[in-house]
Amino acid sequence: CGIIGVLGNHEVAPLLVESLKRLEYRGYDSAGIATINNGQLDRRRAVGKLVNLSDLLVHEPLAGKSGIGHTRWATHGAATTVNAHPHMSGKVAVVHNGIIENFRELRAELAEAGIAPQTQTDTETVALLTRAFMDRGMSPREAALATLKKLDGAFALLWLFDGEDDLMIAARKGSPLAIGHGDGEMFVGSDAIALAPMTDRITYLAEGDYAFVTRAGAEIFDAEGRRANRDEQRIDLGA
Ligand code: GLU
Repeated sequence: CGIIGVLGNHEVAPLLVESLKRLEYRGYDSAGIATINNGQLDRRRAVGKLVNLSDLLVHEPLAGKSGIGHTRWATHGAATTVNAHPHMSGKVAVVHNGIIENFRELRAELAEAGIAPQTQTDTETVALLTRAFMDRGMSPREAALATLKKLDGAFALLWLFDGEDDLMIAARKGSPLAIGHGDGEMFVGSDAIALAPMTDRITYLAEGDYAFVTRAGAEIFDAEGRRANRDEQRIDLGA
């Protein structure tokens, strides 16, 4: 029930886990992270407490300076490792809070294209759709937007792409999402608390917004696809 994303200048796995700890208060049943290392996506996921994920990372570390993370509160599909986020397909990794209400319809569409789900989650359809659009020649940005247009429900979404070390795509519809500004680094999180160790400079996405985030900054668009100016705020979270 929490999302974190980092385009950083240092090893990102410890930062992701630390941020997920700060989101623990929201409740969760499993957790996972994905990073891009030498252009390649990889992930680690574990059921139960975050310490299980940390332990796994000790034995099977994940290198890389770009990554996304998730604590899951299962709504569709049991709390298993296979159902834990990030969900991956092809060059796409996705973390998601909320519910994709029309995932059964989307699954039926994917089935017609010969694409079968590997998990019981609603979230996986987002990864599968984005991958299908990329397989048809779309860029990551085009594919994420084409996917977004097909989704009903309440969600916060964050995409990361194999071979794209400097791009995260964020979307907010019904679940909050905050963008954090660093010095040549950028962050995305479910709330400012998750981002507090990294930055106090926060831009909240408005309802329906999506954003292309690179280390140079965030381009934010409203639900109609118009470039949107959202204020950057300094958040004082105390000591
Ligand atoms: N509906 C998604 C799932 O069950 C996301 C749940 C969440 O918000 O953590 O995997």
